[in-house]
Amino acid sequence: MKTAIRKQMTISADVMDLLNDQIALEMHASASYLAMASWCDQRSLLNSKAFFYKQAEEERGHAMKIFEFINEAGGASISPAIPSVNNDFEGLREIYEASLDQEIQVTQSIYKCFKKARSVDDFASEVFLQWFVSEQVEEEDTVRGILDTFDLMGDMPLKMIDERLPKE
Ligand code: MG
Repeated sequence: MKTAIRKQMTISADVMDLLNDQIALEMHASASYLAMASWCDQRSLLNSKAFFYKQAEEERGHAMKIFEFINEAGGASISPAIPSVNNDFEGLREIYEASLDQEIQVTQSIYKCFKKARSVDDFASEVFLQWFVSEQVEEEDTVRGILDTFDLMGDMPLKMIDERLPKE
């Protein structure tokens, strides 16, 4: 028997399509964080630079987790094209605001996958996605905390604000 037919597809086709979209979104988030890291790196904002390089790697890790899951479940993972990434920022606060917007978008997209998995009784995908639901709560909370710090620091010079921000 050929491997292709021996391997059973357990993932629902609809969930697989949404998860492939999710891979593209996570990879785009990764590329976007890389652009943010570069902006901070050029200005020697050391904590923010480290934070965004780390975020870029984490998002790639998320994409890979989904990538491997789809194939394991007998589906077909698709390596995505990365659409245009913004490399042009007005300031550090704007970068963190953009990063919160991005995380909220990712959260909404995870919810969409989760709802679909639930509605078609794709239990394996639903359980797999639970980790991402919790992860997004953490991701959003971290960036909201950073934006609170900005509010507290007011008009302090950027480097002094950066020194008070987390590296990861
Ligand atoms: Mg992610």
